[in-house]
Amino acid sequence: MQIDLFDTELNQILAAVSYADYKSKLAAYDCSRCTLCHSRTNIVIDRGNPSAPILIVSERPGVNEDRVGKPFVGRAGELLDKMLKSIDLDPNEHVLITNVVRCMPETDRSPTKDEVDACFPFLVKQIELVAPRVIMLLGAVAVKWVDPSRSDIKMEKEAGKFFTLPRFPGVQLMVMYNPAFLLRDPRKKANTWEHLKALRNYLHEEKLV
Ligand code: SF4
Repeated sequence: MQIDLFDTELNQILAAVSYADYKSKLAAYDCSRCTLCHSRTNIVIDRGNPSAPILIVSERPGVNEDRVGKPFVGRAGELLDKMLKSIDLDPNEHVLITNVVRCMPETDRSPTKDEVDACFPFLVKQIELVAPRVIMLLGAVAVKWVDPSRSDIKMEKEAGKFFTLPRFPGVQLMVMYNPAFLLRDPRKKANTWEHLKALRNYLHEEKLV
């Protein structure tokens, strides 16, 4: 846990003992830990169920998410919900959706290392409080920031695969194509259906849904 001796509000967020406490304190925090604070309207924290067995992590909010204050709204969000429903997962019950950074960049770009480093304690705290059994990483950017040893990840090879990380014991991480990418390259939808079926099999084997 990363504590800043001079920032009481930050320390209270990182010391929260319940998800509701974490979320309400983070939503009220006028965070300026990175330059993304200048381009955001809302800090985008989550969508879904904080007691769900699956945490979905994407890279960053976009314009629609910034306006509404929730991740994955708009066309990519609709596709994500469709993907989940195709394997009988309810987006409001079986998953919680978030990003590696909580604020929208000023342009359509991926977050930088400095931005991710500044925001990562909020994701780690979120994972601690949600205690998911599966973390689904949407796209190469989410994968490389959650697991920097995969910074040269090739999605063609890694999508659909499970792996573990010592820092998140008891959690299976899974790589999945980002729905925003699938909208641009629908040829990958067939592969993604196979990946979703692999996830469904794992969830059933482990009796997680
Ligand atoms: S992206 Fe994260 S660290 Fe940066 S300003 Fe937003 S909440 Fe703070």
